[in-house]
Order: sequence, then structure tokens, then C-alpha cells
Amino acid sequence: MSNDNIYDALESTTEIAKCPSCGANMEYSPSRSSLLCPYCGATKAVNLNDVSSEIQIENLFKESSNSWNDETHVFRCNNCGAKEVLNRTDLATKCPFCGTTNVVEIEELPGSKPNGIVPFKIEKDEAISCAITWAKKRFYAPRKFKKSVSTESVSSTYSPSYSFDSKTESHYKGRLGEYHYETVTRNGKTVQKRYTKWFNISGTYNLDFDDLLIHATDSISQKNLEKLGNFDTNNSMLYNSSFLHGFSANSADRSGMECYEDAKRIMNERIKKAILKQYNYDVIDYINIDTIFDEITYKNLLLPIYVGFYNYNKKLFNFFVNGFNGTVTGKTPLSIIKVGITVILILAVLFLIGYLVYIS
Ligand SMILES: [Zn+2]
Ligand SMILES: [Zn+2]
Repeated sequence: MSNDNIYDALESTTEIAKCPSCGANMEYSPSRSSLLCPYCGATKAVNLNDVSSEIQIENLFKESSNSWNDETHVFRCNNCGAKEVLNRTDLATKCPFCGTTNVVEIEELPGSKPNGIVPFKIEKDEAISCAITWAKKRFYAPRKFKKSVSTESVSSTYSPSYSFDSKTESHYKGRLGEYHYETVTRNGKTVQKRYTKWFNISGTYNLDFDDLLIHATDSISQKNLEKLGNFDTNNSMLYNSSFLHGFSANSADRSGMECYEDAKRIMNERIKKAILKQYNYDVIDYINIDTIFDEITYKNLLLPIYVGFYNYNKKLFNFFVNGFNGTVTGKTPLSIIKVGITVILILAVLFLIGYLVYIS
């Protein structure tokens, strides 16, 4: 499918999902991969045949023309500032990032429309049990935090991101050093003396990147996105608004170009790491790498993420559950009492060791 066709297809997918039996609004069901009426249980198939395509990078530069138009509207949370994109037929009631109901509709374009989506695969109760298992393992988190993970504190949201592909060829040149030691006698004592053996390196290195994910929202950091792991983005669906029924999407804060710059920086870092990994060295004098990026493509994706929040000492903590495979990550508050007890125990052990050494 050419890019023009993708956008044509996107224009025709706006529809209100009314239940054919009772007329209620239907919602996308992760476990059934179809629309489900929450009132009478009727289901309606969604198109699961069209996978999203890679888009040539040139299209990223003219992305602004590709907006969601009037099929969605944007809400902002007055408490934490998170912005949500919802289908025109849905209203935001609660902020998924902080739980307050202080959300207002704002006049803002939601950014560029995604061309791909990874639909939610796991249901909310499954996500909650993954989060509870994770929370129980956070030894230093307060007990209250572990008990707080519940239906009220966890919400689903689609998170905007860009994935990038590229073939790369790098030509490099550099000088690395390896430490060596020799035994010398100094003032009648034998000591180890360190010296550095330098050697030159050069060569060509090829590395291919496939669906490198970059976060397009400030509500989820790049680090957390990477920790959430795999979303099977190679099998992402062509975006269509059916998937958004009953769900919200977090609004993009970062442009495709910003994400592209990040992607190139991360690719460059990984190339450098991969080149250096071929050698045994202790120290780098210099390394120059000249990289050609080829066949660069991208996808503008919505990723399924469950967000949990917890307020501790007036600070907001978020954790995230991968809505595709249940991986959990996030920051937890530290229990002052638990950390305090650990510090006291360590000090007590050190004191005891000191005392035993002293009396021996
Ligand atoms: Zn119904
Ligand atoms: Zn909020």
C-alpha cells in the first residue's frame, strides 16, 4: 500500500460504534479482539487484516498535514498536565496518570495521526495482577503502595511513539589502549607497575535497526518505554478508530522530527558500542565513526499501556504495564522506615566487625 492510500484509508475509518442489539456504545475488548457491548455482550468484528506499513522517512518532514482532524478531541488534566486524545464520541472523566477528575477539553490539535496501532492484548484485571506481583517484589516500597494497586489506580491509555528502521554502514578509525602490568623493584620492594599498550583500529561495521521505539509523549520516559520491552510492532495494525473505543490515547508532546533526532542519536550510540565490543581494551584514546544511514523508514504508532499512579508525600509516582505482554516498570516511593532500618542494620554490622577486629 502506498502512503497516499494509507491516508485515504485513515479518512474513511471514523465511525461511531453503536451496539447493533441495544444501541449502547461498544468498547474494544482486548481478549476478544473485537468490539464488545458492555451492557448486552454483543460483539462486532474489527478489521484485523490490515497491518501498518513502513513509511519512507521523507514523509516525516511533511507530517503536519496529516492530522486526526475532527474525529478526536483533546483533554488536559489540570493536576498533572497529561493530555489525552479521545474519539469525538467519548468524554474524558478521569486522568489516567494521576487519577483526578479535574480534566477539561482544550482547543488543541492532537498532533499527527498514527498510521499504526498495537491493540491492547491483555485485559485490565490481568494487567493489575502483573502490577501487584511486581509491586510485591519492591522491597523498599511502603506497604501502603503495594496495597494501592487496584482497579481505581490503574487505567489504560494508548501511548504515542515512533518506530524507526534503518540499515547502517559505518567506517571507523581509532586508537585503543590495553593495560599491562610488570613487576618492578622499588626501594627494595616489589610492586606492580601499570603501563598502556596502544593499538590502532579501523574497519567497516554494518548494523540494521528494526523498529527502534522512541517515546513521543513526556508522560512516559524513553527509559520506561525501553524497559517495557517488546510490543510486537512488526505486526502492528493499520490504525483505525475502532481500537480507540473505550480507550484514550495520550497526546503526543514531541514531533516526529524530534523523535527521529533521538533515534539517530540512539543508533549512533549502539553502533559505537557494537564496534568497540569487537576489541579488548581498557581505555579509548579516540574513535571516529562515519555512518551512512540507508533505507530509513518509520511508523507513527500507538502502543497499549496500562498506567498506575500512587501519591506519596505529595509526590506522584507512575508505573506502567505493557498492554501487549504484561511487563511492568516504573518508580516506586521508598519507605523511610524500611530504608532507615536497613541503614541502621548496616551500621550495626560494620560496628560489630570493627569491634571484633579491635579485640582480636
Ligand atoms: Zn448492547
Ligand atoms: Zn493527571
